[in-house]
Amino acid sequence: DMNLKEFDESIRRVKDFPKPGINFYDITSILTNSEAFGYCLEQMNLWIDELEVDTLLAVEARGFLFAAPLAQMRKIPLVLARKKGKLPGKTWCEEYSLEYGTDVVCIQQEDIAPGSRVLLIDDLIATGGTLKATAALVKNQARSSLAGYAAVIGLPFLGYEKHLDDAPIRTLINYQ
Ligand code: 5GP
Repeated sequence: DMNLKEFDESIRRVKDFPKPGINFYDITSILTNSEAFGYCLEQMNLWIDELEVDTLLAVEARGFLFAAPLAQMRKIPLVLARKKGKLPGKTWCEEYSLEYGTDVVCIQQEDIAPGSRVLLIDDLIATGGTLKATAALVKNQARSSLAGYAAVIGLPFLGYEKHLDDAPIRTLINYQ
């Protein structure tokens, strides 16, 4: 089985992507390493028990990769949060700010049963803006509760903890 040091070494760092000065954590190197990918799924699977989760909500696009196998392992529903205009039918949408401008995240109304206990899953939490907007859909629109926020990687120096103060946050590894 993999340990945390080996898992850390499985994550590729890309300097100056997508722009100069940004150190990008590239999770494709986890996907090509079945031990590292398995490590993620095993650890995240424990959070489902710990936080009494009955529904997974995955954030486009890299959150999908971790949430989909987990939902099937656990036989629980998987809901997709996507950018505006990607999902058919009735949606709920929430706008959030980026460094420059805004973006909009949506879910399909039919996909979440009211009263669900939802774990939000993404690959990486930076400022927490994406997950905060997604959480607002769960709480304010879908009439469901937040079991927690989950990601492979956390960048706590960007301050996500103050934006995500309404449910437990779980990450596999944090970087400064
Ligand atoms: P936040 O909304 O927390 O500021 O940003 C998190 C979102 O940006 C996530 O959806 C994540 O996929 C993406 N993101 C930001 N920086 C990185 C990075 O270094 N690596 C990866 N894989 N995703 C990132």
